[in-house]
Amino acid sequence: MTAPQLYAAALRRPRPTGNQFCFWCGAPCHVDFTVREYVPKTFSGYAEVAMPDSRYLCGGCVAATDEPDRQHRPRQKSWVIESTRARDFTGKQPDELAAICVAPPPPPFAIVLALSGKKHLIYRAAVNFTAEAAITVQLEDRRVTYRPDELRSRLALCGRLCAAWGKPALLRMPTPGRIVFAAQRYADPSDLFQWPRIWDEPLSRLAAALSPGKETCELRYPADAVGPPDSRVA
Ligand SMILES: [Zn+2]
Repeated sequence: MTAPQLYAAALRRPRPTGNQFCFWCGAPCHVDFTVREYVPKTFSGYAEVAMPDSRYLCGGCVAATDEPDRQHRPRQKSWVIESTRARDFTGKQPDELAAICVAPPPPPFAIVLALSGKKHLIYRAAVNFTAEAAITVQLEDRRVTYRPDELRSRLALCGRLCAAWGKPALLRMPTPGRIVFAAQRYADPSDLFQWPRIWDEPLSRLAAALSPGKETCELRYPADAVGPPDSRVA
């Protein structure tokens, strides 16, 4: 089952079947929806679709790439898709999405986290059929697979750094000065020193995307350092 098939089920649309295969997701489909009609002529991402030589689309992908309603373009939202419902979230709901990524709904489910709002992402997402060992989510155009406890601790690390720096700095390579600046905030900053090594790991990118803003992080991870800064980080 592909994520658009799950999306179609959540929208109570018929499960795609047929003897063709969907251009976007590769699911079986009929000839009801054509690439010519539904895929923009300017589209060039053939390396990223499941069946680039197909001329047809499944109903799930037609719904997932629907554009006419400017107020409700699926690509501009993040999604948690189950077989009975598809919930959409905005970029202002990182805590809700973080909670779901750590404790997802019963399988099957697919989680899609949009960062730019510019790319169709649902067709790229993996469906999780079990959440026992690891969970895979679609973070913009890359997949991230993790264990919930790993994500929980990476979220805490990002939260402690975000309280010192603000969220945008989580996306950039940290300088030594920045690490020292963050370390001065905490009585035990030992976990922060691994950030230069792991900041660009997929799991770190995921945790950074799911971090709330600086003000929330400051409340959640209050400064607890004592004594003059220079003596602590020397
Ligand atoms: Zn499809």
